[in-house]
This record gives sequence, C-alpha cells and structure tokens, in this order.
Amino acid sequence: MKRLKKLCALLLASSMALSLVACGPKDTPASSSSSSTPAVSEPEEPKLVPAYSVEGFETVDADGNRIVEGRDATGSQAMAVASKYEVSQVGAEILKKGGNAVDAAVAMGFALGVCEPFTSGLGGGGLATIHTAEGENYFIDFREVAPAAATLDLYVDANGESNGNTRSGGLASGVPGEVAGLLYMLDNYGTMSRQEVMEPAIRIATEGFTVSQYCANAIADAYETALQFPEMQKVYWDENGLPYEAGDVITNPDLAKTLQKIADEGADAFYTGEVAQAVVDSLAEYDGVMTLEDLANYEAQAITPVTGEYRGYQIISSPPPSSGGTHLIEILNILENFDVGALEVNSPEYCHLFAETFKLAFADRAQYMADTAFTDVPLGGLTSQDYADLRAKSINLDTAMEVAAPDDPSPYEHTDTTHFSIADADGNCVAITKTINYYFGSGVMVKGCGFMMNNQMDDFSTDAESVNKVEPGKKPLSSMSPTVVLKEDGSPFMVLGTPGGSRIFSGVAEVISRVIDHKMDLKTAVCVPKIWNCSNKNNFQYEKALKGYEEYAVTEETAAALTEMGHGEIKTAASGAMQSIMFMEDGTLYGIGDPRQDGKAVGVDK
Ligand code: GLU
Repeated sequence: MKRLKKLCALLLASSMALSLVACGPKDTPASSSSSSTPAVSEPEEPKLVPAYSVEGFETVDADGNRIVEGRDATGSQAMAVASKYEVSQVGAEILKKGGNAVDAAVAMGFALGVCEPFTSGLGGGGLATIHTAEGENYFIDFREVAPAAATLDLYVDANGESNGNTRSGGLASGVPGEVAGLLYMLDNYGTMSRQEVMEPAIRIATEGFTVSQYCANAIADAYETALQFPEMQKVYWDENGLPYEAGDVITNPDLAKTLQKIADEGADAFYTGEVAQAVVDSLAEYDGVMTLEDLANYEAQAITPVTGEYRGYQIISSPPPSSGGTHLIEILNILENFDVGALEVNSPEYCHLFAETFKLAFADRAQYMADTAFTDVPLGGLTSQDYADLRAKSINLDTAMEVAAPDDPSPYEHTDTTHFSIADADGNCVAITKTINYYFGSGVMVKGCGFMMNNQMDDFSTDAESVNKVEPGKKPLSSMSPTVVLKEDGSPFMVLGTPGGSRIFSGVAEVISRVIDHKMDLKTAVCVPKIWNCSNKNNFQYEKALKGYEEYAVTEETAAALTEMGHGEIKTAASGAMQSIMFMEDGTLYGIGDPRQDGKAVGVDK
C-alpha cells in the first residue's frame, strides 16, 4: 500500500516535473534526459553544505539492511545520543564548550525539531527525566494540553464513534509544550544562554540538513497529507514540486526565523504575539478551536518522577500524564518474581513470561491511567512490589491467560516520536522523549513559521466511559518513558528511552532486563529483537532480527510454541529506536544510537 502510494506520488510528481522542466535547473528525471540542448550554460546552483556533516555515515546497506556498526561511541567525559547523528554532534559540541547535560539536551531538543521534523518540534510536546550530579531527580512535564474548547462532541460522530478529528486537521492539536519545557529546563538546570543553545538549531534550519533515506521515506509517505495541507509542501517538497529525496538538503528559513525570535525574546515569543496568532490562524483554517488564551496559559511543570527498584537498581521514570514509567516499574516488579536470567532471550518461555507480564500491566493501564488532574491514579499501588507480587501470582508459566479487564482504549500503535539521552562529566543525566505524535503530526504547518502542529489529541480516547476520554484542559495519556537507572549506591548506570507508542515501556523494560538479568552489553541489549503484547488480551508481536542478531530471532518454532500455549496468532511488528547510555566500570561513558533509525552516539573526551 505504502509502495503504491509512493509510486503514485512520484508518478504524479514526475508528470508535474515535465511541465516545469523548461524553467527548473534541478536535475529531475525529466530534465536529465533532455541532454541535447543547453547552448547557453546556466550558472551552477551553489551546492548547499549542511552545518553538521553526516558524510560517510551510512544507515542502510546495499541490500536494504539497517547497518548496525558505527552507531556507538565511548567518551571519557560525556555522551550525547540522538536518533540523528547531526543532533548528537550538536550535543557533543555544547558539552565540549563546557555546557552541562541540560544545556546539551536543550540544544539537541531544538535541533531535532529541525532535522527530524516529522517526529517532534516546536508544535509538539514531551517529557524529561533529569538526574543531577548532586543526586536529585526531576521530571519535567511539557505534554500538550487539550484546548479549553476541545469537548468530546467535536471528536465523535452521531453514533459516538471517532470521526477522525483527533488524528488530522485543526482539531487534532493539543496546546504545544516544547518551547516552554525546553526553556524551563534551561532556566532551572542549565548554565548557558538561550542564544548559545539555540544557535545550532538555527544554523541547521538556515544552512540545511541532508535528507536520510529514513527521512525521505517519511516525506514520501506524507505525500497525501501534503496535498491536503499544502503549506507542508513549502518545506518538504523541492522547487519542482517533488518530495525531497535522500541526499537532498532541506533548509527551513521560516523555522530559522521563529527559532531566532524565541532565542532573542524567550518563550513568550512563541506563546504570545505573532507566532501564537499564526498557530491559532493556521489551525482555524482546518476547523481548529485553539485560542490565544490557550497558548498564553500553557506552562511546563516540574513534577515528581515515579521511582522503583529492580534487583537492587533504582529506576527513575515518567509519572502521569504518561503511563510509561509506572508500567515500566510494574513490569520490572512482576519480573522480579521470576528467574529471568535463566531463560534464553526470545525463547518460548521467555516470550511467554514477558507477554503475560505485559498483559497484566496493560489491564491496569486501561483501568486506571489518565491525567491525574482529572482522575485519581493509584500510583503508589501500581509501582509497589507487593502489588506486583500479587499480580505475578496470576501468571501460569505454561498457559496464556485472558485478562478479564477492559481493553486499552487508546491503541496508538506507531513508531513516531524521538528520544535522546545525554550524560556529562559531573554525572548529570538527561533523558527526553518528545513528539508531535504521528509523523508530521496533524498535517497543519504553521504558516510562515516553519513547524508542524501535533496530533496529540489522538492519544485521548473518544469513548465517553474511558478515564482517558477527551476533556478540555486535560493532558492525553502518553506511553513515553524517558528513564534513568541508578546503581544501588545511587550513582548513574543507564540513561535510556525510545519512541514506539504503547510499545515504549515494554521495550524499555526489555532492555533494562537484558542488561541486568542476562548481563548483555548495551549494544546487544538494544539490537536484540524486541517482543510486545500491547493489550490485556493476546496480541503477541515480535520484531525481525537485525543483521548479525539472527541468533536472538523469534523463530517459527517459538511462534508455534506460543500459539500452542494460548497466545493466538503471532505477528511481526517494527517499532522503536532506543537512544541509550551506560556508565562503564572504568569510568567511561558508552552510548549507542539505535540502528533501527538514523541514530549515532557522539562521545566527548578531554
Ligand atoms: N503520542 C505518543 C505517546 O505519547 C508518542 C509516542 C510514540 O509515538 O512513540 O505515547
């Protein structure tokens, strides 16, 4: 289906290119074939050179396999890992200049919105877990909020079914939190000025970034969205009306201007004045109800992270409005009842135990999880070892259970979003997951400002009975789980997180367990295929093995054994990109960018 769409897009695009060939100097398929003419040689267009070089960094081999090697790094002083190599370079540059992990994180956050614009940006929101060198833990909630006029009736049809407005168009956006969140972090825990940390993002928006194959696919897949919301074309299609392709360089002068304004004037330049007006107007053009007041009222919040323990290690992660950290801890607490290390990774017994554990967590999630300003969430119970011990008793190691509880009302099974992790020489750690939800969010690009608006309203349920139903001023339930793991003595051990919708917290739990239970090195733990069961019912999914990790594959025999145990039909899925850091015994930092996307770690030495 996707291929067909892309083919149609390119066919249409090349027929458009034919009509443009007389006026366009770009080497389109059509223009390159008309080789006979040029009597008058046109001056060559100056080649754009992106600010941060990714020359020679290959992510896919000739056979289309994701390349695993070359994604990791070691640093004696600090480490920056993002799903874009350029952005890890930005983080390392700030750290080298003497910035701390928060300075680097803020710089990387703004830069990601420029060169991975389909996953996150100024029009989105996110969550951050911070562990300081002094041993303090903070959690910054910059999740989007439903506009004051966003009532449930706008999102359902006459039968009470979702009418699609949470997904696309002006009603799909929550009030964006990214600018408030990143600048709150900088003001409270950073050391550098806004100008210093935002300069790399402005530079990339001005000078451009090189389109990777992954990015090109995202742009091609959004072809129909760009037809529906033509403002997108201005940034993501070239001068011939063709979606940008791998190797092209994208600049975004409108975004550079918006970022510069924020750098000069602070968060108010986004939440009030002409940018806020452009947000409101751009959404209103597609039936949006967000107001200037909604934007002016937005505030990022510092709240208490959820904490737990796994076999002596401390887990610090996301509280509501994310379900992620709570269920990550619940999953690990349940697993603690079993000798996980004795099970072969991705064997039938291993898959069964994890799937059963995930089902229990998802049953609780559907029942209890939502914005705590609207619902009482029994966080203490959900993260307690005693409760997990009780839950573990319902696991039968031979047979799959049906969990008798309501199903999960918000099945956001997609792998959008972005995660990045930073650690500095003093031991400050920052884990941030941020998102505009689906790739390119709601489809609405803010006119003249160069950024896409989120479709985070889609993380609400449109079921009037759900605790997570749409309500004005409420935050939609997230799964994002930016996580820091500490050793028993309180010193940092790991910083990690991933995109992946409701596959996020189970994915984070798997990587933590593989490191702690199976003593895997971080690279192996990240690269081994993941497994999921994102519901309280059976829906086991597994990932195909990356090249070189076939020994950990979920085999046909394993799938058959799981079906035999009662897991039903076993399916494959692809999801996530874990950007992670480990504090090594010798005092160095090891980082790995997930080969599933464009990640590459950059270490900092003295
Ligand atoms: N909107 C999703 C959430 O908050 C984003 C996660 C993702 O798509 O990866 O959980």
